[in-house]
Amino acid sequence: MADRIAVIGAGQMGNGIAHVFAVGGHEVTMIDVSSDALERGRGTIAKNLERQVKKGGIDSGAAESALARVSVNTSLDALATADLVIEAATERRDLKFQIFADADRIAPAHAILASNTSSISITEIAARTKRPEQVIGMHFMNPVPVMQLVEVIRGLATSDDTTTRVMESARALGKTPVEANDYPGFVANRILMPMINEAIYCVMEGVGTPDAIDTVMKLGMNHPMGPLTLADFIGLDTCLAIMDVLHEGMGDSKYRACPLLRKYVAAGWLGRKSGRGFYDYRTA
Ligand code: NAD
Repeated sequence: MADRIAVIGAGQMGNGIAHVFAVGGHEVTMIDVSSDALERGRGTIAKNLERQVKKGGIDSGAAESALARVSVNTSLDALATADLVIEAATERRDLKFQIFADADRIAPAHAILASNTSSISITEIAARTKRPEQVIGMHFMNPVPVMQLVEVIRGLATSDDTTTRVMESARALGKTPVEANDYPGFVANRILMPMINEAIYCVMEGVGTPDAIDTVMKLGMNHPMGPLTLADFIGLDTCLAIMDVLHEGMGDSKYRACPLLRKYVAAGWLGRKSGRGFYDYRTA
């Protein structure tokens, strides 16, 4: 029988993760503290499945049964029947520590507890549980149904068996898993986020407009998307949280978050999800 999946957090990543597992034939429960987020998350899955059908990716019957496999819940008690838990809640250390302590109490002893964190230490998260060998990073990329990569992060105590099972489950979804070790930002964000942060310094110092900076990186470096468009897509609060983790974890001032990034987040300009970031999406 296919593993039963629980996804904690129904935001942009959580609903994408629920989407791909449901299409892969798994029963999925999406859990969020906000029932609005759950409703929006399920709506996004329905819309994205419809898009996949139109593009010929899956047939309409498969899309309908995938959606029927997704249930929602506001309580972590729903973890009691999960084989694989994937946490995709807000990028805050204290929040994730609490979620993993609770998940460890509620989920069955055999269950793997994975985090989709962009940067927070898997070793530290695992230390909040009594099963650190079954805790791992399963870092999907945004948008999850489209992106090929899953960065699989081993904490200090993560077992070979847990790693193998998670790599296999990513492959079964048609993704390509890549193993990384647990250092701040892992591989993806250790490299990506300082580049985005530097682009924000360029805006702050007036080196170029957001559009000019994005165009230089697209046409000059062949990036499919400019760094500021990408930052708006990721969410500026998430970008700031990752820079803070890199700065604290590496203890090197080269990772300090750009003050303009901090100011945008303080203003609630979080990018696409709030309607405004380096670009204005309110009329789009
Ligand atoms: P988001 O803001 O879209 O969604 C976060 C969700 O978590 C919200 O719906 C919120 O209600 C929910 N939440 C908060 N506290 C909770 C709790 N105690 N229990 C259950 N749900 C709770 O954020 P996102 O962009 O989906 O990011 C989620 C995680 O995925 C973060 O760890 C982030 O670093 C990581 N991530 C993000 C991206 C990206 O491009 N945005 C890419 C890879 C990984």
